[in-house]
Amino acid sequence: MENNVEIIQINISGEDKPGMTSSLTAILARYDAFILDIGQANIHSSLTLGMLIKTTSDKSGFIMKDLLFKASELGVMIRFTPISVEQYNEWVKRQGKNRYIVTLLGRKVTAQHIAMATQAVYEQGLNIDSIVRLTGRVPLLEDERAPKSCIELSVRGTLYDRNILQQKFMELSTLGLDVSLQKDDIYRRSRRLICFDMDSTLIETEVIDELAERAGVGDQVKAITERAMRGEIDFCESFTERVALLKGLDVSVMEDIAHNLPITEGVERMMTILKRVGYKTAILSGGFTYFGNHLKQKYGFDYVYANELEIEDGKLTGRYVGEIVDGRRKAELLRLLCQFENINIAQSVAVGDGANDLPMLNLAGLGIAFHAKPKVKATAGQSISTIGLDGILYFLGLKDSSIEELHL
Ligand SMILES: [Mg+2]
Repeated sequence: MENNVEIIQINISGEDKPGMTSSLTAILARYDAFILDIGQANIHSSLTLGMLIKTTSDKSGFIMKDLLFKASELGVMIRFTPISVEQYNEWVKRQGKNRYIVTLLGRKVTAQHIAMATQAVYEQGLNIDSIVRLTGRVPLLEDERAPKSCIELSVRGTLYDRNILQQKFMELSTLGLDVSLQKDDIYRRSRRLICFDMDSTLIETEVIDELAERAGVGDQVKAITERAMRGEIDFCESFTERVALLKGLDVSVMEDIAHNLPITEGVERMMTILKRVGYKTAILSGGFTYFGNHLKQKYGFDYVYANELEIEDGKLTGRYVGEIVDGRRKAELLRLLCQFENINIAQSVAVGDGANDLPMLNLAGLGIAFHAKPKVKATAGQSISTIGLDGILYFLGLKDSSIEELHL
């Protein structure tokens, strides 16, 4: 009698016990069954194990019988589903179809958030392959110290309309959830360079406004800064105007401001981890080198490119030295750093909040608008508005559990 090929899907669920997977697969080994696919997930102490096996009609009955006995002995549920060769081939053909990573990030990710995000994904014709939690286990009593929560979905399919999806994600951001969609390609897990804007990104202030305050021209400068950051006036023009207003300010004021910079939540943790795992980091700022260098020293950034204020006799002259770092220049610097470090531009990340960050956010492999102005947020591919800068680590796919292993 001829033995036909049989494909069987096996689903096992129940309380997780040590050695369960090995004892079940040992039965398959005994009958020389071939495992075409395998996947396992644990939630709390409950396990779900799925396998797709190929065997022949003379053995399949024995395999199922032995597995059934073993499952009963282990106290778990087991289910068998026959899969036709046509169904299997169809499934194989779908592999490699566009894959994306959807990251859900917030102080707290609620059921409502997940329902809305997965609905948006579903409406785009995307199918969810797997879901994992990247943040640590959530204690029942709420964490008072800046809690954060992150869930990552692996999805697959062809997007109907990226703009509509982006719009839906923007709506979620008003409900306290940041959602991002990244292509799940080879570069996604091999990012190597991260470029940061400084003012209102790494620090919670615009230094030029503080300098102006101390120079007694606060209101004048602040008004110009706001218009520049909203993209209403040319950056270079506004920069020259503002620097001129600082004429005569004593250098000791700069030192004082540098030592009291309000550092954004998560910077220290993020930098420690990024450096530990080998990322190159840069500050590309339309602000001033004096403060950029201060942060470089404090946190160990690899590069700082910003604007140099001219100083004569211990006072600002109201002029600057060299070329202005504006939006175009930031993007150019990102490209040059990639060239210099021999990094594919797709492996770069840019983070910023202002309109002058858009060129670099759009150029980078991953551009993240951080607590950004609405115009910037709407244009950038991804954004973080709910938590601190260490939220970037989750966009890079780093899990709290693997971060803890670094023993920082
Ligand atoms: Mg900024």
